Parts: sequence; C-alpha cells; structure tokens
Amino acid sequence: MAHDALGRRVDYLRISITDRCNMRCIYCMPPEGVEWKRPSEILSYEEIERFAAIAATQGIGRIRLTGGEPLVRAGVAGHIRRLHEIEGIEAIALTTNATLLPKMAEELREAGLSRVNISLDSLDPDEYARITRGGKLDDALAGIDAALEVGFDPVKVNVVVVRSLAQDLPGFARMTIDRPLHVRFIEFMPVGAPPTDEQHPSCSTTSWTREDVVPSDEVLAEISAWGDSHGYGSLIAAEPKSAPGGWGPARYYHFEGAKGTIGVISPLSRHFCNECSRLRLTADGKVRPCLFSELELDAREALRSGDDDEVRAIITQALHEKPEGHDEAAVTDRKMSQIGG
Ligand code: SAM
Ligand code: SF4
Repeated sequence: MAHDALGRRVDYLRISITDRCNMRCIYCMPPEGVEWKRPSEILSYEEIERFAAIAATQGIGRIRLTGGEPLVRAGVAGHIRRLHEIEGIEAIALTTNATLLPKMAEELREAGLSRVNISLDSLDPDEYARITRGGKLDDALAGIDAALEVGFDPVKVNVVVVRSLAQDLPGFARMTIDRPLHVRFIEFMPVGAPPTDEQHPSCSTTSWTREDVVPSDEVLAEISAWGDSHGYGSLIAAEPKSAPGGWGPARYYHFEGAKGTIGVISPLSRHFCNECSRLRLTADGKVRPCLFSELELDAREALRSGDDDEVRAIITQALHEKPEGHDEAAVTDRKMSQIGG
C-alpha cells in the first residue's frame, strides 16, 4: 500500500491519455485550442500500461482516464481492456464530456470500464453550445442515457459552477430524483494561466476570477430552498451507504425518496488536501503529485529508457514530494485539459 511522506494513503492515479478535445469549454481552453503536443511527446498506450503496472505494484490500484477528451483517442477500449488485466488494478473510471458515449458505451463497458463521470455545465442547448463553443446538449444527454443503459455504476454528472454563467442549479438537482444519477457541483478552480490585463474578468475567456467562484454551501442552500418550495423537502445528508462509492472528496446529500444524490466538491472553500489520495500522469508523461503545484516529474524518459526501476523511483519520489496542501490563491500555469482534470 502506498503512502506519501505525510502518511496519506495514495492509491488513485488519474491518467490523461490525450491533451486533445472535441470541444473548447470557455473555462478550460482558448477558442483556438491549446498547442497540441506532438504525437511523439504523448505517451503511447503501451507506455501508459507499463506505468500503471509498475504503479500497481506500489499499491496504486484505482485508475481514472481523463484528458482532454479521452474518447477522442483511437483505441481507448483496447487500452482499458489491457489496463483491466493488470494485476493489482481494481477499478477503472473515466471522465468524459459524454458526447461520444452513445456509440462507445457498450464496448467500454465490455472492456472493463465500471464508472463514469460526465461533465455537463448547462441544461439549456444554447448556453451549452456557448460554454462548450459548439457542443450539442442532446449529444451529452444521450451520453448520460447510454451510460445508465449499459450499467456503469455509479454515473456521476459533474457541474463546474461559475457565477457569471447563471446556471440552472435546481434543474441539475431535479435530474437526481427519478434516475440513479449523482450530480456533483464543483467549485471553479484557478487552473490555467491567470487572466491578463486585457481579458475581461468573466469566464468568457479562459480566465478565472474569485467573483466567479460560488462556494458549495451557497449551492446547497439554493438547492435546498428550491426543494422546499417544490415539494421535495430540504436536502438530507446522505448516509455513507447511500452515497455513491467515491474516490474523491465529495460531500453527498439527497432529496427524500430520490434515486440519485447531490454532491459538492469544494477545493477552494474547504480544502481536502489532508484526504488527497491521488497522483496524476499527464499525457506527455509527467507525474504530478498535486493539481495546484507545478511540481512535475518526468516519467516519459524513464519509460523510454526501458528501466522499470527508474519509473518506480519516480513514483516513490512523487509520493515523497506530494505537497501538504495548497494555499487559497493557488493558480497553475497548465490548463486542466493539459494536466488531466
Ligand atoms: N473532457 C473531459 C470532460 O470534460 O469531462 C475530461 C477532461 S476535463 C479537463 C475534466 C474536468 O475538468 C471537467 O469536468 C471540467 O469541467 C473540469 N474543469 C476544467 N477546468 C476547470 C476549472 N478551472 N475548475 C474546475 N473544473 C474544471
Ligand atoms: Fe474538453 Fe473537457 Fe476541457 Fe471541455 S472541460 S474543453 S470537454 S477537456
């Protein structure tokens, strides 16, 4: 079992398998996209699988594939199948915008994928198209349907809450009543370069501002008040057994009798660094012990030199150097699509 220098158990690896995406969400990527890495800079599937196998021997048994959009990389189902066969890998999850799920959900399930997190920031087709710069809401909703149909469990819907987007939060909460969906509201994080002087202080650019952050407690209060006034009652804190099995630091609630849950993830208003159990592997092969720290260790060279001991040493070093926490104003240079959200 892997522990870091502070005694935190670290058993979860987020792997970004591509920096590319079929969308350009306004808070994640500039309209023209970021400069893609050259194919030779990106880890091959074989390299990722070797890394995962070595990490598994060190006690890291849970993997989440992310990106960019992981489903745009050709051959992802085969990759999942091979990861699934690695001794010590207990479960594989995926974070996706879901637009390609309708045609891929079945083969991904058969390959051994068990859990999906779907990103969805608006339930209004025009607003969704604006936020994603061209995405179709119906594609994402069909992706949610497909995920439930093939039996991924849990199916979580992640909503990044941004004040200037004026999202219909109760609309998302309503999704949890009739279907086993777990909607999680995530505080907008200062990931990506800080805004320049020329940028307007709203998220119509990829900039982040403190004013755009909506603390989770405010989200919960709004949804609870909506529930009260619409006959669902107030939100009830979920018992651990009714919360969806989680690998992250969400707090879960539900409406009486609802099939799903409502969660909040509060990286800014309530730091969860003391519970952090994850390492990240970027698409270009850097091990990143903390989202909010620029510390990255180069595993690609070690993988390409064929020296497994060196890869193991890098994982050990990442565990050793995992920061204790991040401060309030933590800002990272690389964007979420590059690090792997
Ligand atoms: N393309 C996939 C998707 O959208 O689910 C996976 C990669 S995306 C970078 C992963 C998650 O990061 C998405 O849920 C996205 O909303 C989230 N994200 C991106 N930038 C963020 C930010 N600044 N604060 C909070 N979440 C962010
Ligand atoms: Fe693509 Fe996901 Fe970033 Fe949106 S949040 S641009 S879907 S990587």
